[in-house]
Amino acid sequence: MKTDIQIAQETKELPINEIAAKVDLNADDLEPYGYDKAKINWQAIKRINQNKHLGKLILVTSISPTPAGEGKSTITIGLGDAINNQLHYKTMIALREPSMGPVFGLKGGATGGGMAQIIPMEDINLHFTGDMHALASAIDTLAALVDNYLYQDNSLNLDPNRILLKRGLDVNDRALRKITVGQGSKFNGIEHPASFTITVANELMAILCLATDINDLKNRIGNMLVGYTKDDQPVLVKQLGFQGAIAALLANALKPNLVQTLEHTPALVHGGPFANIAHGANSIMATNLALHLSDYTLTEAGFGSDLGGQKFMDFVATKLAKKPDASVVVATVRALKYQAEGNTGHLDQENLPALRKGFANLKQHMNNMRNYNVPVIVLINRFATDTENELALLKELVEKEGIPARVVNYHDVGSKGGIEAAQAVVDLANSNQAALKPSYNEDDDVKTKIEKVAKKIYHAANVEYSAKAEQQIAELQKLGKDKLPVIIAKTQYSFTDDKKVLGAPEGFTLHVKGITLKNGAGFIVVTTGHVLDMPGLPKHPAALDIDVDNNGKISGLF
Ligand code: ADP
Repeated sequence: MKTDIQIAQETKELPINEIAAKVDLNADDLEPYGYDKAKINWQAIKRINQNKHLGKLILVTSISPTPAGEGKSTITIGLGDAINNQLHYKTMIALREPSMGPVFGLKGGATGGGMAQIIPMEDINLHFTGDMHALASAIDTLAALVDNYLYQDNSLNLDPNRILLKRGLDVNDRALRKITVGQGSKFNGIEHPASFTITVANELMAILCLATDINDLKNRIGNMLVGYTKDDQPVLVKQLGFQGAIAALLANALKPNLVQTLEHTPALVHGGPFANIAHGANSIMATNLALHLSDYTLTEAGFGSDLGGQKFMDFVATKLAKKPDASVVVATVRALKYQAEGNTGHLDQENLPALRKGFANLKQHMNNMRNYNVPVIVLINRFATDTENELALLKELVEKEGIPARVVNYHDVGSKGGIEAAQAVVDLANSNQAALKPSYNEDDDVKTKIEKVAKKIYHAANVEYSAKAEQQIAELQKLGKDKLPVIIAKTQYSFTDDKKVLGAPEGFTLHVKGITLKNGAGFIVVTTGHVLDMPGLPKHPAALDIDVDNNGKISGLF
């Protein structure tokens, strides 16, 4: 069996102009990065956004992730290829850019797998068009400008111990979670505690994904909360005048990137917040362009319905030109057996009782999406070790709940691995049944929002707040910011805030540890359990298997 990277490297990309032509873009609309990647230029973006046409939006989410694998990106890409190449509808895929941290850490690449991938996979997984580097530069320039302000001026009396902006790097580096800057001689600046987030969890990444043009980008940067003065007054970036320079660093990164799948379906890959510690969807600009340019847009919300799925429906969808027409929940037999058994020991053997028990996890995810009043279909991502009995049982369990299910094999055979399934998804998107009903009201206060998500989506019985969180909520109220949308940071492995609790638990307590205002992004981050915005590397990082030969050919990215 060939690895993902071998399959990708053996596929010849079409010139990016030919991919663009599939959605009626011409060479003048592109800023090519070599042969097979391009950014869409501003002139084209402005023109496309005037286009009245909006295609159907299909959101792909999944069951809770497990070490047994779910293959959400693989299914999004395979389904896009099937709608494009087998059903012959104009299709675009809009996905997040992978973060390099997990590529070298736990996960390897994040560009799909097998015969359903986006290419050039090494570029997309590593430096791509430089967006992640631009973001890290912007994040750290902003931090340096603030530190310089403390050193040179500080007429606002900004408290060095209450700076909220964090530095950022697209690296899993636990050593940077808490640092002290400005140590040593007084010429090294003002000493104060500081910290790093991984780039994809930083507020500037969220801003890049939410901004609709350069002016909006600049306004949002200007509204970022730097910290508080010694007499408790908030200080925004625009009071220090740094928004223009930071927007200038990000202006190029704001333009969506066009690439292709192995089967040459056009894909916009742009922006990449994680869904456990950030909002978990690719840029609004990319999804809106895809909606204007194609008849079917497929996009993915990270992790399960409780993380990316909920954030997409309650927050991201409100920013898009159009709400989702259908949602796909990806499930695997293996992952559901893991939900029941709690270990990967016997997943290759038929185990119908474990599948029946583990189904509870899928049931909650599919009901969560259905409760948003968007029609749902379950796609069962077939693995070679699944038995016919298991696949039939899983399909039956889903359909008994009144939700359609199809078994697909896009990973092994590409778009031919689920043609009828693709038709079923298209039919659902065309059924005009969707009328998105968010899980909370816009004008609910912060606690009401958290409680509605905790009860409706996670099935918690109640929410407990730490003393620090209570105090932070009081500060939000004082600032008049307690009605912004909430982005709940929670482990992806469980509906609870404890990653070890599998299945579909009920009646537990959700523990809120901290509340942070992201005033530029326009949301409140609610931290639960033990989530970290700077991941660490595992004992055997994926980096140990990655190499490059003397011809520049990279191996080991999966
Ligand atoms: P997710 O988006 O859920 O994180 P991916 O689509 O990135 O998952 O897939 C993770 C890994 O699992 C990839 O290396 C992919 O090749 C592999 N994978 C996905 N589906 C299958 C399958 N049906 N059979 C074997 N491997 C698969």
